[in-house]
Amino acid sequence: MSFAASVITLYPEMFPGPLGISLAGKALDDGIWSLDTIALREFGIGKHRAVDDTPAGGGAGMVLRADVLANAIDRAIDSVSDINDQRPRLLMSPRGRVLDQAYVRELAEGPGAVIVCGRFEGVDERVIEARQLIEVSVGDYVLSGGEIAAMALLDAVVRLLPGVMGNAESGEQESFEEGLLEHPHYTRPQIFEGREIPDVLTSGDHGKVEQWRREQAEKLTRERRPDLAAKADKGGAR
Ligand code: SAH
Repeated sequence: MSFAASVITLYPEMFPGPLGISLAGKALDDGIWSLDTIALREFGIGKHRAVDDTPAGGGAGMVLRADVLANAIDRAIDSVSDINDQRPRLLMSPRGRVLDQAYVRELAEGPGAVIVCGRFEGVDERVIEARQLIEVSVGDYVLSGGEIAAMALLDAVVRLLPGVMGNAESGEQESFEEGLLEHPHYTRPQIFEGREIPDVLTSGDHGKVEQWRREQAEKLTRERRPDLAAKADKGGAR
């Protein structure tokens, strides 16, 4: 069973975009995941297919209409062949839970996702409640729309799907998978501008290499991400 992504967006021409290239693109071609892009404009109201309106209570900007979004979400749900669409419905939103590798993995183990990309000031609160949207953020900064956030999420999920990464191991030793940042990498040449590859890595002693990598990962995590290090100490990661 492949991972079924439905993306609701005012800018369908942005997809698959970068998701059509490299690992994700090959996986798309191979049918490991599918992408159904739903053009929000098609569900717009009236001659001009309006999807937004001014905010109740006044203020700057425009808000995506609840009825228009709900119709698009319902179409996304109808479009999968399963009678019972169990996919989580996500709304890309700076107010949401911040995306992390644990949630990426959880999504990758599921049937897919319906992803709503916001625009303008955001979306009418009532559609979030009525369609039980889970708000997901890609970090504490504001993008102009949810599309790039949706692409980041899908890219992270797709690379974990079975058959996408050549070396099955390479998904498990990376940053965050053990609650740690990854150790440094080196490759040829042996000397670059006077800097040598650390001796241990060319010693051929796999035990020592593993130990060195672990120490480096722990050191980097303590230095750069004390928040992650504290979680790892408590055994709270994963
Ligand atoms: N007025 C909103 C920002 C709207 S930005 C606020 O202050 O919170 C327009 C759209 O971009 C949002 O609806 C959301 O879909 C998307 N977006 C912006 N920043 C995001 C982030 N950090 N993570 C996920 N989506 C984001």
